Amino acid sequence: MTSTRQTTAPTPKSRASTPAARGYAAQSATTPLAPFSFERRATGPRDVRMEILFCGVCHSDLHLARNEWGMTTYPIVPGHEIVGRVTEVGAEVKKFSPGDLAAVGCMVDSCRTCPDCKAGLEQYCQVGMTLTYNSPEKQTGQMTYGGYSDKIVVDQDFVLRISDKLDPAAVAPLLCAGITMYSPLRHWEVSAGDRVGIVGLGGLGHMGVKLAHALGAEVTLFTTSPDKAADGKRLGADQVVISKDQDQMAKQANRLDLIVDTVAASHDLGAYLSMLKRDGTLCLVGVPEQPHPPFHPVQIIMRRRSLSGSVIGGIKETQEMLDFCAQHGIVSDIELIPIQGINEAYDRMLKGDVRYRFVIDSGSLGAGA
Ligand SMILES: [Zn+2]
Ligand SMILES: [Zn+2]
Repeated sequence: MTSTRQTTAPTPKSRASTPAARGYAAQSATTPLAPFSFERRATGPRDVRMEILFCGVCHSDLHLARNEWGMTTYPIVPGHEIVGRVTEVGAEVKKFSPGDLAAVGCMVDSCRTCPDCKAGLEQYCQVGMTLTYNSPEKQTGQMTYGGYSDKIVVDQDFVLRISDKLDPAAVAPLLCAGITMYSPLRHWEVSAGDRVGIVGLGGLGHMGVKLAHALGAEVTLFTTSPDKAADGKRLGADQVVISKDQDQMAKQANRLDLIVDTVAASHDLGAYLSMLKRDGTLCLVGVPEQPHPPFHPVQIIMRRRSLSGSVIGGIKETQEMLDFCAQHGIVSDIELIPIQGINEAYDRMLKGDVRYRFVIDSGSLGAGA
C-alpha cells in the first residue's frame, strides 16, 4: 500500500504530492522537543491529506514526550487536537475536497469489526484504536506521528468536519478536551435543569463547564483555587465551590445528578460521591499516577450511586460535539504559541499556568523551524 512512497526532497511546485513533512519531536525522555523531518505516507484511495493549521497541546503530549507512562517509542511527534485544511484526497474519498477545513482527534484508525467499533465506539475498540501518535500505523507499520507537524494523512473515516464560523485555532482543543467532556455529559443524558458538577478548572474542566451550561444544566464547579471562581462563572458555572472549604463542600450533599471529575491527581472520591442524589453518577476522566484512596461502599450503596469513567468519544459523537459547538458558538479559551515555544509551554502547563489550553500556530513551522 505504500509502494508509491516518495523519497526525494520536495520541490516547491510539487508540494501537493510529496509526503515530506516537518514537525517537532522528542528524541528521548529527557531531551526537549526539537525540529524533526520525516515522511507522511502517500495519499491512499481512502485517505485525506491536510495541511495542519493549528494543534492543541494536551497533558498527554507532555506525559508521552517524557515517557511518564512507560509506553513511548522515540522519536515521538505529539499532538492530537488537529485542525487543518484539506490539500489532497484519494479517489474513493467523497466526504472531503481540497480546500475544506477538517480536523483529527486522538485516533486515526481502529479495528472496525469488534462490537465496540460496530457500535461507533471506536475509543473502546477491543483490539485497540490506532492513536494519532505513538501507535503502529496499519498502512505502513511505522509509528504514527501527531499534529506538532505541518501535514498529516488520515483515513477519511477518522477525519472530522468543522464549521468555518468558529475560530479554527480555538476549535483545536475540542478534539480531545472537548469530546472528553461532551461524551459523559451525553452518555448520562444531561438536559435542562439537571445538576452537573465539574471538578477541576483546567483544559478539560473549562470545556466541561461550557458544554454542561450549553446543555441547559445547572453547573457547579469545584476548584481548589479561589482566584478561579470569577472565571468559572464567566465560563458558565452557576456556582463555584472551593473544594478545600469543608463547609462549602458539606452543603453539596445529595444534590447533584452527575459529577465529571477531571482531576489527574490522587484525591478523595468519597467527598464527591456523597454529593450525588439517588442514582447519581461520579464519572472520572482524569488519570492520576497513583490510585485514589479507598472510599467506604456505604457511600454508593445507600443512595444507589455509581462510580464510572470515560475516555474521549467515538467518531460519530465527536462530529456531533463539533456540530453542537458550532451551533452554540463554543470553543476553547486558548493561548496561541509558535512551535518554538512548546518546551516553555510544557513547563507552564506543569505549573497550571495556562488559561486554558495552549494551541500551536502551525504556520510557525515554516519560520526557521
Ligand atoms: Zn489529549
Ligand atoms: Zn474495534
